[in-house]
Amino acid sequence: MKKVLVIEDERHLARFIELELNHESFDVHICYDGRTGLEQALSQDWDVILLDVMLPGMNGMEVCRQIRQVKSTPIIMITARDGVTDRVNGLDLGADDYIPKPFAIEELLARIRSLLRRVEEHRGTPSTVLTFHNLKVDLDAHEVQIEGRLLELTKREYDLLVIFMQNINRVLTREMLLDSVWGYDTEVETNVVDVYVRYVRLKLKSVGEENMIHTIRGAGYVMRS
Ligand code: CA
Repeated sequence: MKKVLVIEDERHLARFIELELNHESFDVHICYDGRTGLEQALSQDWDVILLDVMLPGMNGMEVCRQIRQVKSTPIIMITARDGVTDRVNGLDLGADDYIPKPFAIEELLARIRSLLRRVEEHRGTPSTVLTFHNLKVDLDAHEVQIEGRLLELTKREYDLLVIFMQNINRVLTREMLLDSVWGYDTEVETNVVDVYVRYVRLKLKSVGEENMIHTIRGAGYVMRS
């Protein structure tokens, strides 16, 4: 369930937004003044924040500015109808979108959905491809490439390589690798990790990539240059 923080002092409007968003399966929390709103914005992770400009306590611009110093939570500013300055200022301060009052609830919902989509797309792209030097792992396609050439790995070898790629410069113990690749309930001995690390190293070596996975005596393994 997506969580929405509504910072709006007009109680009727806030309540109306809450009901409509609940109806669309959003989890909604309302704050009626700027300071409480800022506090909530920083103390929890929200999927979207709807932020009114004219607020008691602290105005929406200042709330937006202070949120942006710490967090990149998507923000939609609720501005006055002719508040061109508000819109420009809000966007300058890092708001992602604005909606002028009065608005049709459908338009607000459309803007929330569009913003969430943008955030998802933005999030989804970098995490699906891992890179390290010439090595590229495409997590969606389950493919490993070195300088554009495909590297064939078995499932275990692939899983092991992915764990290393996700933890560059971090020493991983045999137990951690065993848990990640073979699962907690495994009956497999920890030295199977050594065997598979050797396989992965050999495959990397066969395409000219040596010294990527290093043995840390008494600790485990680390991937680094
Ligand atoms: Ca207001």
